[in-house]
Amino acid sequence: MGEPLRAILWDVDGTLAETELAGHRLAFNAAFADHDLPWRWDRHTYRRLLAVGGGRERIAAWMEQQRVGNGPSDQGSALLDRLVASKKRHYGALLQRGQLPLRPGVARLIAAAASAGLAQWIVTTSSRSAVQALTQNSLGEQAGAFSGWICGDDVERKKPDPEGYRLALARMDLAAGVLAVEDSPQGLAAATAAGVPTLITLSEVSRSEPLEAFAAAVAVVDGLGTEQQPLTVLRGPACPGGVATLSWLEQLLPSS
Ligand SMILES: [Mg+2]
Repeated sequence: MGEPLRAILWDVDGTLAETELAGHRLAFNAAFADHDLPWRWDRHTYRRLLAVGGGRERIAAWMEQQRVGNGPSDQGSALLDRLVASKKRHYGALLQRGQLPLRPGVARLIAAAASAGLAQWIVTTSSRSAVQALTQNSLGEQAGAFSGWICGDDVERKKPDPEGYRLALARMDLAAGVLAVEDSPQGLAAATAAGVPTLITLSEVSRSEPLEAFAAAVAVVDGLGTEQQPLTVLRGPACPGGVATLSWLEQLLPSS
């Protein structure tokens, strides 16, 4: 018999919503345009840049590749600050326009976990402002289901470092019965290093990764499933009805 499920730790980008290619990427490009920079990240370039966790870090890595800021260092860092601020504004505006709905099955599972009295936390590399924009605009009545958020602003080291997950576990004061839901190898590495069993729900970005990249996950699915869009289990226990329920999630926890 496994542990009872007590808490779900949710990643945001790619897990709650497909925020990367149709969200963050467009906001970065709009920020570059605001600053008369010729840079445009196409989908291919952006997928490659996603190896760098955190928006600020991603722009910084790109600027370094473009050799911007090799002159007087203040110039590069002032530009970085302006780009980050501008990108945040564009991302918020995009969410306000309702362009980033939750992935299928997410709202259902959050609501089910809330009615069952489970603790739910957000553990993300995104900034607090980006999470706020998403919860306000896309989560609707589910926004209140979370007991807390650990965001990029709260940690020294972002995913794949486990710091965010460790912080969430410490604040929840729970060590067992916790499951993480992630979409990326970086997120999986972070949760696993913190000792949290992880369900991978492949996103439009991570779908192209080889399945071996998720070897540490307790299960890999292509989504959380709805009656109209049942999920496919790529690895893990069969999921009757194609819908991830709390009792199916509970089966994913290690036996005590
Ligand atoms: Mg993610």
